[in-house]
Amino acid sequence: MTVPETAFLNGRFLPLAEATVSIEDRGFQFGDGVYEVIRTYRGRPFKLDAHLARLDRSAQAIDLRQPYPFERWVEYVTEGLRLGDFPETKIYVQITRGTAPRDHAYAPDLQPTVLMTFRELQPLNAIVQSTGVAAMTMKDIRWGRCDIKSINLLANVLARQQAKKRGVFESILVRDGQVTEGAVSNVFIVQDGKLITAPEGGWILSGVTRQVVLELARHEGLTVQERYCSEQELLGATEVFLTGTTVEVLGVVHIDGKQIGTGQPGPLTRSLAKRFLDETR
Ligand code: PLP
Repeated sequence: MTVPETAFLNGRFLPLAEATVSIEDRGFQFGDGVYEVIRTYRGRPFKLDAHLARLDRSAQAIDLRQPYPFERWVEYVTEGLRLGDFPETKIYVQITRGTAPRDHAYAPDLQPTVLMTFRELQPLNAIVQSTGVAAMTMKDIRWGRCDIKSINLLANVLARQQAKKRGVFESILVRDGQVTEGAVSNVFIVQDGKLITAPEGGWILSGVTRQVVLELARHEGLTVQERYCSEQELLGATEVFLTGTTVEVLGVVHIDGKQIGTGQPGPLTRSLAKRFLDETR
């Protein structure tokens, strides 16, 4: 049987519309959980191992018991893809600490709530990919453990909503004058032929796509600097691009109304976007 939009809840597959959890789930009341977003290319999950490894790290970082071994996750993901049967799928994975009467502190033996959704992936518009997007800068008001892919996303939600209100694609977050990342993406700039992106640590989520792009760039012999760039450097860069599971490698051509470079995705952006696409094959 094929189910149009499939959910997985605590070991069981069911139609997404029928999947429900308790109102006392700590994910619902405290944002006490972690997540991943994975996409397929040609029907196969891209960098599943890297996503599952990050899920593991996120869970460990918040003292959350990760319920399945790697092989079991792979089996469940494979089954979800089979049931959904979409040309390409966006897989959402979430683990919360489970259900208990509301109390900030938690008992160590709670049964985590594990859910996944399998929905058809709508790829980014090809025109947007080729023309690039506009972005805005915004103060980064997030906590100091952005390396944990926590479902506590209020600051990202507000940043993304500001972008939507302004009619731009992404909010680029700036902490004490330094660019950290986007609300849903990592940020790279090109300056004097060098590729610059914020270093791993508590102020960014180290993207799986970011890692792939860094490897491709190094392989191409490009000079890569993992360091913060200032807001001035961002606005004066010859190229700026975003990376992420759903945005892939996406040129930014206007920031706060100011044109970046020639106003079109630059040569390094285009060549890395192409290399990235090759990698997904
Ligand atoms: N940074 C943030 C804040 C994100 O939410 C995401 C993706 O959702 C990324 C970076 C990119 O991560 P990835 O390439 O693993 O999708």
